[in-house]
Formats: sequence, structure tokens, C-alpha cells
Amino acid sequence: PSLLREMAFTIPAECFDDIGGMDSTITELKSIIEDLVDHKPTFDTYRMPLPRGMLLYGPPGCGKTILAKATANAGRTHFLQIRGPELIDKYVGESEARVRRIFARARSVAPCIIFFDEIDALTKKRTGVNEGCATLDGVLTQLLTELDGMIDCKGVFALLRPGRLEKLVHIKMPREDSRAAILRRLLCKFDPHQLKVDIEKIAKHSSGYSGADLRELCRNAFRHAIRAVNPGRDGTMADVTLSPEDFIRAFGESGPSVSKQTIQEY
Ligand code: ATP
Repeated sequence: PSLLREMAFTIPAECFDDIGGMDSTITELKSIIEDLVDHKPTFDTYRMPLPRGMLLYGPPGCGKTILAKATANAGRTHFLQIRGPELIDKYVGESEARVRRIFARARSVAPCIIFFDEIDALTKKRTGVNEGCATLDGVLTQLLTELDGMIDCKGVFALLRPGRLEKLVHIKMPREDSRAAILRRLLCKFDPHQLKVDIEKIAKHSSGYSGADLRELCRNAFRHAIRAVNPGRDGTMADVTLSPEDFIRAFGESGPSVSKQTIQEY
């Protein structure tokens, strides 16, 4: 029942403009959404299969979820996020049935993007000793079967990690120039005169930070800045200026969250 309750289709608010440092991946996703939404009749007429699925893999906090949501936003398609572990049920056949229900629901609201998150949890447990092993295999098989069955896919597109998919896209930890691009996206609501900081310098000093870590850094800096201007405690808007000191303090408060080992695993 919890899964059914969570089968909430949305059109996400996140968009490609919110994302920094991933231009080539965004170009690719834009062309897929074009095929699914704008070119669907043409694909159908010539009996060419529409793209069905894509695997995004990489360390946590580097933008897989925001990319998936922005893709749905760009196509004005429905979006459904399913966490891998939610698919697991101890009763025989129930996990597979859940996968079938998800795809059936998605077809009924197509065009739709299903984002299967934490699919790696399913594969990792496969080698474990716990009882759920058979089920886990079954769930993956069912996922792939549903994807294969989507030759006539009626505009459903799945984004997930491991599987028999057309495209594998590695979402990497951002390098210095990408970090600068991400910071610019995260701080885009500030006027130039409100940004008394050197974005390039922050990017240089944040080696090992994921996009999510950069967001936390900016948030902490902002919390210092907002106190410095002593703004309206009455709920009115404050004119906030970010200074180097705010970032120096923020750097002392949070750091990179992804371990070297995790980065190497990808
Ligand atoms: P996880 O595997 O932990 O779910 P993820 O790769 O899906 O991680 P997101 O959840 O998309 O990462 O990223 C977390 C947050 O970090 C985003 O909501 C966004 O605010 C910020 N972020 C991450 N990468 C970027 C980016 N390239 N540009 C702008 N913001 C980013």
C-alpha cells in the first residue's frame, strides 16, 4: 500500500537551467525528450522504437536526481520516482507484481519518466546471504522485461541504475570548472553587487565537493550573511550580500561528503 500511495506523478519544478557543469549530458537528455515528446508520431510511423531507458551512475549528490527531474520538466512529462528498496517484498511474486503495476500506471499517464533510484541496493544485496536473494533477482529481471516489452512503449521512459539499457551515462564528481558552473547556478539569484566573492576561488578550494556539498556550502555561507545584514525578523525580505568571510566560515562547517573509496567504486 505504501508504494501505491507513493505512486504520485508530478511534473517537477527543477529545470536544466538549475544545473551547472553538465552541458553534454543535458544535450543528450534534451534530444531524448525531443524524440519522446515531439517526434513520437514520426517514430511510430516508421516503426522505429523510441528510446526506452537510460542508466545514470556515479557517486551520490552529483545531480542524477535533479537531471531526471529536469528532463521530465523539459518535456512536460509526468515523473515518477521509485526507490529500489521499495520494490522489495518478502512475498513471492509480489515484487515483480509491483514493477508490473508501476509500468502499467506509467503507460496510462504517458508520456512519463520513471526514475528508479537506488537500484544499486538491489544488485549489492544479491551477493549477500539474506533471504531476499531470489526476490531481488526477480525484481531486476522484471524491470528489464518491462523495458524490453516497451518496444511499443507508448512514451514511457525509465531512468535507472544497472540494467540492459541503451545508454550508460557516468555522472562524475565535478571538476574545478564544473564546480564553478554549479556555484553560478546555485547563486544565480544574487545580483553581481551582492556577490563579493570570487566564484573561481571557491571552486578551486572545494576540491572533492559534490554538487550537493556545494549547495550545503552556499547555504551555510548564506546563513552567516543573512545575520550580518541583520534583516527583518518581521519576515520582510532582506538584501543579502555574500562575502568571502561567509564562505571561510562555511568551509569550516561542512566538507566533502563522498569518500575517495566511493568515488573509486564508480
Ligand atoms: P543521490 O545519489 O544522493 O540521490 P544525486 O546524484 O541524485 O544524488 P541530486 O539529489 O540530484 O544528486 O543532488 C542533490 C542536490 O545537489 C540537488 O538537488 C542540487 O541542489 C545540488 N546539485 C547537485 N549537482 C548539481 C549540479 N550539477 N548543478 C546544480 N546543483 C546540483
